[in-house]
Amino acid sequence: MRILVADPKGFLKIPRAVAGEPHRDPAERIGDYREVFTLLPVAEVREQAQRCMQCGIPFCHDGCPLGNLIPEWNDLVSRDRWREAFDRLRYTNNFPEFTGFTCPAPCEPSCVLEINDDPVMIKQIELSIIERAFAEGWVRPCPPATHWLQRGGGRLRTGGDSSRSATQRRRAPGDRLRAG
Ligand code: SF4
Repeated sequence: MRILVADPKGFLKIPRAVAGEPHRDPAERIGDYREVFTLLPVAEVREQAQRCMQCGIPFCHDGCPLGNLIPEWNDLVSRDRWREAFDRLRYTNNFPEFTGFTCPAPCEPSCVLEINDDPVMIKQIELSIIERAFAEGWVRPCPPATHWLQRGGGRLRTGGDSSRSATQRRRAPGDRLRAG
C-alpha cells in the first residue's frame, strides 16, 4: 500500500517545536524524582509528525538500531491514527516505553531534514505513541502459549546422559548434578 504524505509542505511550514527533547525545568526537577522528559500536547505532536517528508530513502530508518518503521508511524500520527501507529511501533520495538525515554535516538541525526534544518522529533513521537497506547489500554501482555521446557527444548550437551531433554533431567532426583 502506498502511503501519501498528509501535508507535502509540512516541513517547510512547521519548525521543530523544541531543540533536543522536551524536559521539565531543572528548578522543578530537583524537588522530586519524576521523569525528566515530558510530552508535548497531542495536537503539537501531530503537527511535528507532519514535518516528516516520507523520504524515498528514509535514513532515519537506517539510523535506528531496531529498524523502526519511523516514516509510517509519523504519517499515522499526523493523521490522528494512533492505534495503527502503535501497531507499527510494536512491530519492531518490544519496549518503546524505555526507548522513548532513554534511547539516544540516532534516528534524529540520521533524518534527511537534518541536512539543512532541524530533524523530525522522532523520539518524542515514539514516546507519545506508547504513552497513548498505555493510556488507552492497548498494551497487553503476550505470554508464550507454552513454556520452553514444556516444548521439550533445551537439549543440553554437557556430558553424562546428553540424549535426555532438560525436562527429563529436571524430573530426575538430583536434577542436573546427577544427570549432567
Ligand atoms: S529521514 Fe526524517 S523526514 Fe525522512 S522519512 Fe525519516 S523522519 Fe521523515
